[in-house]
Amino acid sequence: MTAVDWQAVGSRVQGPTDLLIDGQWCEAIDGQRMDVVSPIDGAVVASIALGSGVDIDRAVLAARRAFADGRWSHLAPAKRKQVLIAWADLIVAHAPELAYLQTLEMGKPAHESLAIDLRSVGNTVRWFGEAIDKVVDEIPHVDPGALALVTREPAGVVGAIVPWNFPLTMAAWKLAPALATGCSVVLKPAEQSPLSALLLARLAIEAGIPDGVLNVVNGLGTVAGAALSEHPDVDVLTFTGSTAVGGRIMQASGATNLKRVWLELGGKSANIIFPDADIDRAARTAAWSIFFNQGEMCTAGSRLLVHESIYDEVIDRVMAVAATMQPCNPFADQAPMGALVSASHLDRVDSMVRQAVSEGTALVVGGSPAEVEPGGSYYPPTVFDRVDPSATIAQREVFGPVLAVTAFTSDDEAVRIANSTEYGLGSAVWTNDLSRAHRVSRALKVGLCWVNCYEEGDMTMPFGGVKKSGFGRDKSLHALEKFWDMKSTWIQLD
Ligand code: NAD
Repeated sequence: MTAVDWQAVGSRVQGPTDLLIDGQWCEAIDGQRMDVVSPIDGAVVASIALGSGVDIDRAVLAARRAFADGRWSHLAPAKRKQVLIAWADLIVAHAPELAYLQTLEMGKPAHESLAIDLRSVGNTVRWFGEAIDKVVDEIPHVDPGALALVTREPAGVVGAIVPWNFPLTMAAWKLAPALATGCSVVLKPAEQSPLSALLLARLAIEAGIPDGVLNVVNGLGTVAGAALSEHPDVDVLTFTGSTAVGGRIMQASGATNLKRVWLELGGKSANIIFPDADIDRAARTAAWSIFFNQGEMCTAGSRLLVHESIYDEVIDRVMAVAATMQPCNPFADQAPMGALVSASHLDRVDSMVRQAVSEGTALVVGGSPAEVEPGGSYYPPTVFDRVDPSATIAQREVFGPVLAVTAFTSDDEAVRIANSTEYGLGSAVWTNDLSRAHRVSRALKVGLCWVNCYEEGDMTMPFGGVKKSGFGRDKSLHALEKFWDMKSTWIQLD
């Protein structure tokens, strides 16, 4: 693939910076704005309208009006499909601009933004567009004197709150199924990554999403996010982010209108390598699984569990990969790693590393911020060796390129350690023994398990966790279930 001239892309991008409410780009009611700071070099790259509770009220009102008059909710699914596919085409056509903004605001390598995130965003919108006119309802076999119908109806107004680590992918995973079912949406992007979300929304409007059906309110989580989760006229709240905020969103639902809440939360995923695995592939993939996307990944393989008999060999190979994945300016050609999302997140990652060192955990590589660009937020691959599974660094999500490696001596011990955190999102099992692969993958208390690979899958596979990783499922036809109300209608015929 030829390298993209990112400077040229940057000079032509002119994305929106206001709120999108009822099809209009507008200022916040109180006129507040907020700077967007790039973690690449600490520069202010934009100023965006900063919404508050009253702007959320306006957006929910617009969404409710649009839903109630049927301008989208009553369209034939085949018509909604046409619009979603037109949107997917626009996403593909504008992929470099979207990738540029995403990298500028959150720091991941631009070539990965384009090749990985944007491909996934376009596919997601197209896939749900294609799916929606192929879904059928149910007519159960009942007494001949009656007709029973089980139908699915769009739930109404959806609030979607997303994080900054895969800003466009997470937005697409929420918006595409919610819009496909006929719901209206109010999207609250993360405060670190509004620019790419706003351009994504502008393309949706260009594609023909009617006014009021998709609204975007930038704002602080504690203000705009909280207002959306407390709003009495929001029917469904779909959220991806931290476990702590997920808990608050559930409480807000309980304290207000019992809106249906879907939570996709943090993780501390275990990557388990058995001695009968392809050791080289397992070790290289294990390194990639934690250093990819700067480790800012809910499914990051942040715990590596290695059988004692191959421990030294695996750790040597992981270190060799770590040496090749040093952080660079994310617009550099084929940058292996970019910047962490912000200076405050860099401090958080660094303080967790320093705490682990102070608790006596052995640091074998990395462990302090990297100097890449003045004012930037860079952290190198960092590895802790022979970590006690109960250590803080093996229990808490770091959300950075920090790996905790632990040895085990039996299958049962590996499973016990893997299941010993409060999370249950991703996991991987590396073995060439078919029975062991089945046994261990079944014993893991997680929503996602990969065998002899990591992060593989396609749109047919549900994505989400168990325990404190939440319970929502993005992707696949199951994602539609989040945005539908199921109705049972019994028609007495005689
Ligand atoms: P975060 O929880 O701080 O923020 C996520 C979103 O919630 C942002 O839009 C933020 O503005 C908003 N928010 C913050 N406080 C809020 C409040 N009180 N009420 C309502 N909304 C509020 O998380 P983050 O730092 O942006 O993202 C990192 C976290 O997301 C990690 O824990 C990661 O594991 C998780 N994540 C999970 C998945 C998944 O699918 N399971 C995917 C990506 C990220």
